[in-house]
Amino acid sequence: MTAHNEARPVEARNAFGLPACSDCGAVADGINLRHDDSCPIARDIDATMAEDRDWFESHPGATERRRPLTWAEREVLKAASPVPEGTPLRGNVVVRQIVPGVRTRHFEVYATPRGGVA
Ligand SMILES: [Zn+2]
Repeated sequence: MTAHNEARPVEARNAFGLPACSDCGAVADGINLRHDDSCPIARDIDATMAEDRDWFESHPGATERRRPLTWAEREVLKAASPVPEGTPLRGNVVVRQIVPGVRTRHFEVYATPRGGVA
């Protein structure tokens, strides 16, 4: 067998072809992605969601918050997007509060090729 035909390791992917969490190996089932309790991506996302909740509680009447993309959100998007490995992602997240406790997130993300302007 030549190197060209050697079998490559199979990555865990969900039904949508998205890869597993780069840290804990969690694979989405189409609805949920349950990270290990020790996964830093999950911890960061939980902390970000708590910050969003706190922000809306301290801004009564506000329905929209725009904030920078976090490290964990960037890691999840990089794993789920077709951009080449190593391409930096930057952007913002628009968090909309439908009712207290129910929020949506819209990602305004841009890939910056290596050597491109950040
Ligand atoms: Zn994880």
